[in-house]
Amino acid sequence: MSPEFSIEFFPPQTPEGVEKLKAERALLARLKPSFFSVTYGAGGSTRERTFSVIREIAAEGHVAVPHLSCIGASRADIRAMLAGFQSASIRRLVALRGDLSSGMADMGELRHANELVEFIRAETGDWFHVDVAAYPEWHPQAKSPRDDLQNFVRKVKAGANSAITQYFYNADAYFRFVEEVRALGVDIPIIPGIMPINNFSRLARFSAACGAEIPRWLRKKIESYGDDTASIRACGVEVVSELCRRLLQNGAPGLHFYSMNQSAPTTQILERVNVKK
Ligand code: FAD
Repeated sequence: MSPEFSIEFFPPQTPEGVEKLKAERALLARLKPSFFSVTYGAGGSTRERTFSVIREIAAEGHVAVPHLSCIGASRADIRAMLAGFQSASIRRLVALRGDLSSGMADMGELRHANELVEFIRAETGDWFHVDVAAYPEWHPQAKSPRDDLQNFVRKVKAGANSAITQYFYNADAYFRFVEEVRALGVDIPIIPGIMPINNFSRLARFSAACGAEIPRWLRKKIESYGDDTASIRACGVEVVSELCRRLLQNGAPGLHFYSMNQSAPTTQILERVNVKK
């Protein structure tokens, strides 16, 4: 079976952003991804916007997969979101804890993603295919790698069907993670999350916050291009395509692209990787 790939968006904040995303999505749809997912701001901050993009995607005839985070939310909030997704015939979602944003004091009623997955199963049975997050380079708040692995296993035991990883540029971290969770009895697909390299300074900031390592060789290479954006992007496409090839050749079940709402980098990578051909 050919490996599949999926593409993630964030919900735009402006009507212009919504229109632009529609155009980018139309270009990406030609590549026939298995689904488009849409992120969800912690505490429900993007609740309406996420749902609105999800409805648009579904209306265009694509598989629409909302993300749902539990931090700052009550069980009643989550129940209402799940009911909304069910009535829109959504059958898959990405279940996350999310992060407390500044000014958010209330953690909510569900503390970790495993509790959210349990709640989803208790409320909706097998209606949803549930994806959870995985961290080959470990979650930044994890007490230890061992602890993080155990916590990942809890999410799987709670009923996750598959996992999507945080992005990484070190393929060995992914292979090691898969090997370690397999040794703990986890057999669900673990899909690598792929972040194209477009705006390097933003990527470096984001990577520091989410615990994804940019290897020294890659950082140095990209820094050597200075302000030459075209060369940075070309290098990014080359490096990330090679990463994708290596992952697929060594058994990754598919790829999930963090598109940042831009079609070009993901398209260029997929053309090189030749998924589904
Ligand atoms: P958890 O699995 O709950 O883990 C968080 C931390 O708590 C880890 O350190 C873990 O080791 C520890 N832990 C887990 N369970 C327990 C437990 N039972 N007891 C004690 N400790 C525990 N964020 C958003 O806000 N919106 C999004 O749409 C979004 N989409 C994402 C998509 C993907 C594919 C990924 C990889 C991340 C996404 N994130 C999103 C970011 C995510 O919300 C953060 O990384 C967040 O900090 C952790 O979420 P989680 O679901 O992995 O949490």
